Amino acid sequence: MKLEHCINCVFPNTKPDLSFNDEGLCSACQSAFKKDDGIDWNKRKKEFFEIVEHYKKDGIGYDCLIPVSGGKDSTYQAYFMKEICGMNPLCVCFETTYATKLGNQNLDNITRLGIDLIHFKKNHKVYKTMVIESFKRIGDEMWPNHIGIFTIPVMMAVKMNIPLIIWGENSQMEYGGPDLRSVQSRVLDRKWLEEFGGLLGNRIIDMIGVDGITEKELTPYFYPSDEEINKIGVTGVFLGSYFFWDARKQLEIVKKNGFKVKEDGPLEGTYTNYENLDERLVGLHDYLKYVKYGFGRATDHVCIDIRNKRMTRKEGIEKVLKFDGKYPHFGVKSFIEYSGMKKNEIDKIIDSFTNPILFQQDENGSFKRDKEFNLIPNFKIE
Ligand SMILES: [Zn+2]
Repeated sequence: MKLEHCINCVFPNTKPDLSFNDEGLCSACQSAFKKDDGIDWNKRKKEFFEIVEHYKKDGIGYDCLIPVSGGKDSTYQAYFMKEICGMNPLCVCFETTYATKLGNQNLDNITRLGIDLIHFKKNHKVYKTMVIESFKRIGDEMWPNHIGIFTIPVMMAVKMNIPLIIWGENSQMEYGGPDLRSVQSRVLDRKWLEEFGGLLGNRIIDMIGVDGITEKELTPYFYPSDEEINKIGVTGVFLGSYFFWDARKQLEIVKKNGFKVKEDGPLEGTYTNYENLDERLVGLHDYLKYVKYGFGRATDHVCIDIRNKRMTRKEGIEKVLKFDGKYPHFGVKSFIEYSGMKKNEIDKIIDSFTNPILFQQDENGSFKRDKEFNLIPNFKIE
């Protein structure tokens, strides 16, 4: 297999769920071009405000539920639904794996915007067992988090009788244009979670029995039943389907509303200081993606900046070469603290997920590394 990159951005053909046309343009760029030309954003905006009016309650109660983390998008969604839409939102946060101080501060800041927030603190023993198990099994230590951030908000929506859930950007952007009628008849959605939630074929029931975990202890990780969801009419919409999603513009807005960025430099694995700053293990998570597919978080950010015309492709490639796929010393150190595992044990597991076609090995089959412990890629970005 030859690693090839999109002719417009720098996404590689190894990226899951990405396809290329005959010219070598990736599907993410194709839909971004559509977003620039083919979408009537004014019409979308009108549709969104129809949805808002439909779900606004008379009297007491929450008008919508917003799943949040200590990240930028969450603050923006909360601000937007409260200030621009005039709704009374309830924010729900499924506690991240190993939170940073900054992330917790940003979470508290949401309440200072005049919004109620439920912070769901999970059973540490069960969660940690799943973190370690999924790291070993599928090379993703954030796996139980990918589930909890979907199941807990939906569970709360059911329990608190809040039919409308507001998600942020749709990472699997479909510009189908859901209007009020189709929104009402739609549920988000166990299927979406299973297809796009990044569960890598591992299901929650597969964790029953690991270190004695019982089904009952996994309660927070089961999606509510269709019956429960239909009774309330729970539906989820992505803000990004109705409004042009521009992370940098949103950043300026949330900063004016108390959101804090990492002041002492970019986050591990990329060049920005405002994404994923709530989780200490994110550098390890992104690195695992890099060893499997040959691209990391810096590539993700560069691709967005190229598509939003903030960077040329050449500048993007320079950024990728400088920041992507570097061994995550901070992430691994944090994972040692969190899991109690030893560094060589962790490295061995990372190696077991490292693609031997993409990275150079010595004559014994061990991966070659430079003096910063970084892998040596077999591929080039051109
Ligand atoms: Zn592309």
